[in-house]
Amino acid sequence: ALDLHHLHKSFGTVQAVQEVSLSVAAGETLTLLGPSGCGKSTVLRCVAGLERPDSGRVEVAGRDVTALPPEARHVGLVFQDYALFPHLSVLGNVAYGPRMRGAARTTAEAQAREVLALVGLEALASRRVTQLSGGQQQRVALARALATGAGLLLLDEPLSNLDEQRREELRSELRALFARVGAGVLLVTHDQREALALSDRVAVMRSGRVVQQGAAPQVFDRPATAWVAAFLGWEN
Ligand code: ATP
Ligand code: MG
Repeated sequence: ALDLHHLHKSFGTVQAVQEVSLSVAAGETLTLLGPSGCGKSTVLRCVAGLERPDSGRVEVAGRDVTALPPEARHVGLVFQDYALFPHLSVLGNVAYGPRMRGAARTTAEAQAREVLALVGLEALASRRVTQLSGGQQQRVALARALATGAGLLLLDEPLSNLDEQRREELRSELRALFARVGAGVLLVTHDQREALALSDRVAVMRSGRVVQQGAAPQVFDRPATAWVAAFLGWEN
């Protein structure tokens, strides 16, 4: 679904991303972990086309998209500040992607209803999104990303606005949801339980670089360096 080759991105003197190479296979979830400011969101934004890398290559589904605008990359996005369209209904928000890709209104709305059922929001399809709770809005954002039919989903802290109980509910549902749509998922989270519950693999970043990556249980059980161990909360 995704191959990143030697990605670099600086903002002035800040080297936000350095030499990052990653792959996400179809149906696989890779989670980026690391302290605040280590470059996680910048990696996602480069993949989405919201930032242009200084060097390196972004391939989505085997196609070099490095120079393409966001809308030509065919990825689904859920970012922290999930901007829904406030003037549209839940259904309108989710049907927007399919409509933009040229689907007829009835087709787009049928697709939208399908994914709304997946996230458990079909009953709220005709509500304005401004009349939803934060958690419900986050589900709409997820549904909208799923409705794009993209083979790659980019999720930056998708559960951040939920209380602990909702987080736990959605955490267990998400894994099943990802499996059902078969997309590759690149996820960012601060929450290590979320990372363990949702990911096949994790990549730990520090100061713009990937310092360890591997199967999630392996990284958690066998941190490669003292720094990774300390970051993951190991004490000795
Ligand atoms: P957090 O966990 O806090 O969301 P992050 O790992 O997502 O952090 P990034 O947002 O990728 O971190 O930021 C990486 C570095 O790049 C930080 O030092 C940040 O200040 C800097 N940075 C990010 N975006 C910009 C920008 N548009 N202009 C200038 N500096 C930026
Ligand atoms: Mg971030």
